[in-house]
Formats: sequence, structure tokens, C-alpha cells
Amino acid sequence: MKNLFPPFQSDKPLKEVSTFGIGGPAKLFTEVFEIEQMQAVLAYAHSLSLPFFVLGKGSNCLFDDRGFDGLVIHNKISYLKIEGCEVDVGAGFSFSMLGLKTAKQGLAGLEFASGIPATVGGAVFMNAGANGQETCQTLSEVRFVDAMGILHTLTKDELEFSYRHSSFQKRRGAIVSAKFRLTESATARGKQLSIIEYRTETQPYGDRSIGCFFKNPAGNSAGALIEKTGLKGFAVGGAEVSTKHANFIVNKEGALAGDVLILARQVQEKVKEATGIELEMEARCVPYQIQP
Ligand SMILES: Cc1cc2nc3c(=O)[nH]c(=O)nc-3n(C[C@H](O)[C@H](O)[C@H](O)COP(=O)(O)OP(=O)(O)OC[C@H]3O[C@@H](n4cnc5c(N)ncnc54)[C@H](O)[C@@H]3O)c2cc1C
Repeated sequence: MKNLFPPFQSDKPLKEVSTFGIGGPAKLFTEVFEIEQMQAVLAYAHSLSLPFFVLGKGSNCLFDDRGFDGLVIHNKISYLKIEGCEVDVGAGFSFSMLGLKTAKQGLAGLEFASGIPATVGGAVFMNAGANGQETCQTLSEVRFVDAMGILHTLTKDELEFSYRHSSFQKRRGAIVSAKFRLTESATARGKQLSIIEYRTETQPYGDRSIGCFFKNPAGNSAGALIEKTGLKGFAVGGAEVSTKHANFIVNKEGALAGDVLILARQVQEKVKEATGIELEMEARCVPYQIQP
């Protein structure tokens, strides 16, 4: 019989699994490669009332300097099936690779994903978007394992999405796969290539970050508002407002989560003072302790 239970590791440094390179140790850490494994691990956590956190590529996570007092489940469920315009993909598959592969096959709808260093599950959870496109637009179905380990198949009509928000943000469990319905297009590959070129020109790809730190307020660009206050290059400890893109906070050298949070607070205060606008974080701050 197949062993469903993946090995657990103790005291895994979370800075190793976050694009920010910040975070103390996870008390327990495991990698999950199959849907059945996710069900078994979540049922196990439930039976012990063990707090858990589902991790994708950690490209939007600011972990606490003390780490995480529970189980971090690294989602690596990674398969891809493309039949005509229908895409069925494991939630641990690279979102960027999905954007590239579908565009190369002449399919439109996920070109914007190219260059976003996320998993498909993280992109659905955050409703990631760029260049006027969002994950939810072509999404048709999601498979989700709840906190008791039960698998559900949810159609898009049963879910809610808005700017960088999905109804999964209020549910405990793990997205394990997604289906997308794309459209044939002769221009998809060209569009994907121009998106990646624009990203490389305008974003600090060489630095460690979690992408745009603040959400764009309605009708405004958070980056432009921060730039107006003259905060580019402003630093607290090892954390700095990127000199290339003002809405990126970068880990220049050994930044602590504490440095990032103080810097973010100062940015919010300066922008509020100068413009009256309150910037809301897009980044997910993962506390040391959460409810099981
Ligand atoms: C250089 C750079 C560029 C970026 N550009 C963009 C951009 O253009 N547009 C954009 O929207 N974002 C962008 N981001 C931010 C980030 O890539 C997205 O927010 C992405 O959706 C996060 O995916 P992830 O797999 O890394 O999730 P993680 O950071 O690992 O997790 C983020 C949240 O999703 C939850 N989660 C992750 N996977 C699952 C799952 N399978 N089931 C349940 N919950 C899950 C986590 O618990 C956490 O709360 C960028 C980041 C970087 C570093």
C-alpha cells in the first residue's frame, strides 16, 4: 500500500521558503505531492488540533521572526493537463510556467501569469493579477481539501473573487487543483513576451521581495503615491523601499520581519499625511501563532 504520510521536519527555517528570505523556524514542516496526502495531513492536524499553514512559493508571505508555532504544509501537487482550451493543473504547479506554456500553445487568458513567482494555488487564493487580467477570469473549477481533510469540488459560481481577494481567504484548508478555460489566440505568445519584458524593466527582480507590498487604492497606483512622498530608497534595518519600484519593499541585507513592518507603517503614515489615502497591505503577514 502507498504510504500516504509524508515525512515531517522540525525547525525548518521559513526564510528558505519565502521569496523575501525572512522568517524564523516552523515547529513542523512537510511537503505534500498528492491530493490524498493533503487529505491525510490535514485530517491528522485536525485530530491533534494542530495549527497549520498552507504554503505555495512563499512569494506573498511575510513570516514572523519567531517563525510559526505549528505545521507548515508546503504544497507541491504539480501536474498539468491541457486538452484543447481546457487546462487542469495541480495547485503546486508554477503559475509563471503555466502562463508561459499556455501562451506558447496559442492559448489566451493566462499570459499575465508569466513572471509571477507563485503556485497556481497561491494565485487562486490571492486572485493574482497583472496587466488588466486576473486569475479568476478564466478559472472554471477548484478542488479544495477542508481543514478536516475532506475533498470538495467547487465551481466558479460557488466562489467569490475581487481585487486580490478570494473566498478562500475565509476558509481553512488547501486548494489542491484548478481548472481554467482559455481561448485560442494567435497573439497570446507575443503578449506574454511583452509582459515579461515590461516586468523585467520595471520591477526589482534581482532583489528579494514579495512583489507589490500594498494594494492599489481605487483609481490610484500605490507605487506612484509612495514615489510622490520621496520614499524610494528609504530603509529600516535591512528593509528598503525599492529604488526601482516604490511599491516593492526589498530585503537588502538580513532584513527582519520587524524591520519590514516598521518600514511599511512609516510608508503608510507618510502617504496618509501627504494624500489622505490609507494604503492597505497586499502582503500576507503570517503570525507566529494562529488558531487551529
Ligand atoms: C517578484 C514578484 C512579482 C510579483 N508580481 C505579482 C503580480 O504581478 N501580481 C500579483 O497578483 N502578485 C504578484 N506577486 C505576489 C505573489 O506572487 C502572489 O500574491 C501569489 O499569488 C502568491 O502565490 P504563492 O504560491 O507564492 O503563495 P504564498 O505566498 O505561498 O501564500 C500566499 C497566501 O496564499 C495561501 N495559499 C498558498 N497556496 C495555497 C493553497 N494551495 N491552498 C490554500 N491557500 C494557499 C497562503 O496560505 C497564504 O495566505 C509577485 C511577487 C514577487 C516576489
